[in-house]
Order: sequence, then C-alpha cells, then structure tokens
Amino acid sequence: MIHIQLINALSDNYIACIINSTNKYCVIVDPGEADPAFNFLNEHQLHLSAILITHHHWDHINGIEKLLEKFDIPVYGPSKEPVNGMTHHLNDNDKITLEAIGITLKIMHIPGHTLGHIAYYNDQFIFTGDTLFSAGCGRIFEGTVDQMYHSLSKIASLDEKTLVYCGHEYTASNLKFAQLVEPENSDIQKRLEEVSTLRQQNLPTVPSTLALEKLTNPFLRCTFPSVKKSAEKYSRKSLATPQEVLAVLRHWKNHVSSQL
Ligand SMILES: [Zn+2]
Repeated sequence: MIHIQLINALSDNYIACIINSTNKYCVIVDPGEADPAFNFLNEHQLHLSAILITHHHWDHINGIEKLLEKFDIPVYGPSKEPVNGMTHHLNDNDKITLEAIGITLKIMHIPGHTLGHIAYYNDQFIFTGDTLFSAGCGRIFEGTVDQMYHSLSKIASLDEKTLVYCGHEYTASNLKFAQLVEPENSDIQKRLEEVSTLRQQNLPTVPSTLALEKLTNPFLRCTFPSVKKSAEKYSRKSLATPQEVLAVLRHWKNHVSSQL
C-alpha cells in the first residue's frame, strides 16, 4: 500500500514522502532541508531508500548532503542540472523502478522554470516541482515562455484524476491572482474558500488534481476566451497565441505577487 505525505520545510517548501506502509520503506522528493525529513522518518519509523530531485534550486536540494551522511542511498535527478550527490541522471521518458517501495515512475522533461527540470509520475500522481503549482506555475528563470507552455501542456495531457504534488504552498496567493484574471469563474471562488479554510488550520492545499487545475489555474487556461480577454486588457494589445497569453499572465503575476 503506497501513500504520500508532505513534510514542511524552510518557509513554504514541501518535501513529499512516498511511503510503502506495508514494509515501512519510503522515498523523498526535493529535500530542501534535512532536519524536517529526519524528524519525519523517526516519528513514523520509516526507512529512507532513495531521494528524487526535480531541479537544481537550493531549496529543493539543500538537505541532500546531510541525508547522505546518514543513508547510503541513490539520488535521482535531472541529467542536465548540477545536483551534488546525484547517482542517477535522468532524461525525458526514462523509467525508474524504486524496488524498496515497489513502484515504477516515469520521467517527464519539463523545462521553463529551469532548463533541465523533470517531473516524476505514474498513472496516479505527479511531482511537478516548481513548474506546475496548485493554481499557478513557476517563474520562468532559465527557459522560454514557449518551453513553459509546452511543459504545462504535457503535464495537462495526463489523466484528469492525476494528483498534482508541487514543491511549495502557494495556492492561496495563486488563487487570488486567478481571481484577478477570471473574476467570474465560480470554480476559482469556491476553491479559494476551501483553501482559506485549510490554511487557517495550517493544513496543506496540496495535492490537487489535474481536473481541478484545468478549472482554476489560469496558466492552464490560456486558450479560454475569458483568460485571453483579461490578458489583452492588462497588456493593452491583442494576443494571437496561447503562448503570448501565458507570457502576459506570467509578467502580470510577477508584477502583483507581493500584493497577493
Ligand atoms: Zn525552483
């Protein structure tokens, strides 16, 4: 029996822990910090068997070194990025079998936030790092808008029931931005209310599902007339392609982020 729990790290990062509850082995994704992971493993009496890394940013990899001092385990990561301690260099369409917990995951190359960024997925869940967030997407630091658009489209092509595990708790502010873009969207309003309730209790709003993301995430809705119109109004120009809409949304979000 596999289940996933989230470990709080740094100010708003999540370290996902994939747990085989029968044999008590587990794998963690993006340990930005080691101590919260150690505490979680101790508390739940789990054996760590591997580390998965989505991209090279420090808040996703900073815990690796300390974890490797204690555990002699493989570290899987993106072939195109520098990650200390990485033992398995992964590319698009690769498959990894995590024998200790008894699952196989596929690799999807999703450049945009960083150039080598990868996601890990199966037919039930996906770890999207800082590319697709709940109700948002990552900043485009290294890649191009076209790459980000293509990466988000690839993720969105998976089954709608897929659970989306992202690397940060940003959902509330993302939904406030989504509401600026689509003030008439009742799914966004409803989700914002649910998310506010969860956050008041300090509970994670992750995972979401791809179905919910498609209803409420403006960055997955660049082809919708309401989103296009809003982006055109903000940028004061007509936008011919969904990639142009995405570029405006990303620029707009960067501009207002601190106020959300
Ligand atoms: Zn990042």
